[in-house]
Amino acid sequence: MRIKKQGIIIVLLGILTVNCIDELEEAQSNYLNYNTKINLELPFNGEWLIAHGGRNLSENHHASVREQRFAIDAFQKINGSSYLGDGKDNEDYYCFGKPLFAPGNGIVILVENTVIDNTPGELNPNQLAGNYVVINHQNDEYSFIAHFKQGSIIVNVGDQVVKGQKLGETGNSGNSTEPHLHYHMQTTKNLHNGEGLPAQFLNYYANDVLIERGEPIKNQIVKKK
Ligand SMILES: [Zn+2]
Repeated sequence: MRIKKQGIIIVLLGILTVNCIDELEEAQSNYLNYNTKINLELPFNGEWLIAHGGRNLSENHHASVREQRFAIDAFQKINGSSYLGDGKDNEDYYCFGKPLFAPGNGIVILVENTVIDNTPGELNPNQLAGNYVVINHQNDEYSFIAHFKQGSIIVNVGDQVVKGQKLGETGNSGNSTEPHLHYHMQTTKNLHNGEGLPAQFLNYYANDVLIERGEPIKNQIVKKK
């Protein structure tokens, strides 16, 4: 879900009402010092901008949601804009249709692939995650990758996937007003009943600095090594 407020893009997955957003606090977490067990890499190729990511609400408006405490949202931006043309069509957006890959080895346990992509600027609050893939990394770590393009997901429930394997394409389905990727890790496969886990990615550039292990933060331009 995205709300533009005072020039700041807010992207949330899983909150239906955000009227009192200024009063929200970071969700309590027992996992602040957690080290991700599975080896993760960024789920896309090329340079992407982190629209939301980090530990605090000031940099990550997912942080008030327990399961999405450490989520990231990302899209592509060139010359200050996420689209070419007038931005009225999903196809105008740089990241729309770009491939998304498994961030780590695991088994696909949930797939939704039939949700229609939104017209940019509109929301689908009835199907928050839109099209999504959930991967069980088999160590109480579950990856949620959301807002895929309708019909683009090429893996099925039960598939064993390896890090870097294509899952589908970036879309604008669910609570999303423009094409982007949502990623988070949690302790269960239930979007609304689990604990968010910090997801440390290995070997990526953040603003051209090589990060061997880290969590992407708002406004960083990140790229796989
Ligand atoms: Zn999100």
